Amino acid sequence: MPAIMKTKPAYGAELVEVDVPKPGPGEVLIKVLATSICGTDLHIYEWNEWAQSRIKTPQIMGHEVAGEVIEVGPGVDTLEVGDYISAETHIVCGKCYACRHNRYHVCQNTKIFGVDMDGVFAEYAIVPAQNAWKNPKDMPPEYAALQEPLGNAVDTVLAGPIAGMSTLITGAGPLGLLGIAVAKASGAYPVIVSEPSEFRRELAKKVGADYVINPFEEDPVKAVMDITDGAGVEVFLEFSGAPKALEQGLAATTPGGRVSLLGLFPRDVTVDFNNLIIFKALEIHGITGRHLWETWYTVSSLIQSGRLNLDPVITHKYRGFEKFEEAFELMRAGKTGKVVFFPHK
Ligand code: NAD
Ligand code: ZN
Repeated sequence: MPAIMKTKPAYGAELVEVDVPKPGPGEVLIKVLATSICGTDLHIYEWNEWAQSRIKTPQIMGHEVAGEVIEVGPGVDTLEVGDYISAETHIVCGKCYACRHNRYHVCQNTKIFGVDMDGVFAEYAIVPAQNAWKNPKDMPPEYAALQEPLGNAVDTVLAGPIAGMSTLITGAGPLGLLGIAVAKASGAYPVIVSEPSEFRRELAKKVGADYVINPFEEDPVKAVMDITDGAGVEVFLEFSGAPKALEQGLAATTPGGRVSLLGLFPRDVTVDFNNLIIFKALEIHGITGRHLWETWYTVSSLIQSGRLNLDPVITHKYRGFEKFEEAFELMRAGKTGKVVFFPHK
């Protein structure tokens, strides 16, 4: 079968022919119906410092997936052939201090498939049964594959109340766009988005942003104050990882407001804690991964409610993997929302 593999420790990846794997104990084999590219895959493709320290080659890439179970390994009693599943990509230990406090999303021994083991950019893939999530049969595979990153967005947006609340989202990359969709579906208003890329500001509008701001051309803090009659936003959701966006977002948040931070900063950031956080009594949440399995229930229900506007987020669909290099390069250039592959054409 064809698979996108990181064959050597260097830029890029290769489309190779490999054998269909056999599921071991506790594993299932799935026919991959849809799989999408995550920013993490891009880092592995680019072979950045993090990837160099973490990834062992050769390895099949990819982790966002929807597929059908076609073979069940020994000892699996929770799934059967024909089940339609997606997968939580964090494989947690269940034994550490965090896990024993039901904080599986911060398990200290987390392993990730497509990062610490072979992934899903292939026609068939192995999924640990404990990480499988059963989907309703009528959920389109491209939505089902998106549930994993949607989980990040849901945890960011819904870390506190949001219905009827003014909201600033900084960064409209694939995750920020999913965040806009979740905020809109959850009743946030107005949803204000700060994003330097014109292409992504246009996408943000299609997904549901009420106002878009180019932070490189106008001051987002002033723009937010104008829109909110000088109050500032109730909710600030950081999806860019840009230090400047963090500072602007904190300044644009109303005293007593709520902040969720998902974007990962490239270096240590300096902010005026006294004036931007402490004296404003802001409620700040660091967001990582997804709550197991509460977030998956929320994501699945939001999709089934029909209120999530996901179609404009999925900007590129590929049948087969032949054009995977084009897909990665477009994504690197910031010219995409989510990119989805359908391996079986
Ligand atoms: P991305 O890089 O595609 O998107 C970031 C967006 O921010 C881009 O569109 C960029 O133009 C925009 N941006 C840059 N500077 C800005 C500024 N000053 N103000 C506003 N916007 C600005 O990344 P993504 O895949 O959408 O992921 C978003 C962030 O979430 C990344 O930092 C990623 O590392 C992080 N992330 C965190 C977790 C977690 O568990 N905490 C999981 C996945 C991704
Ligand atoms: Zn653990």
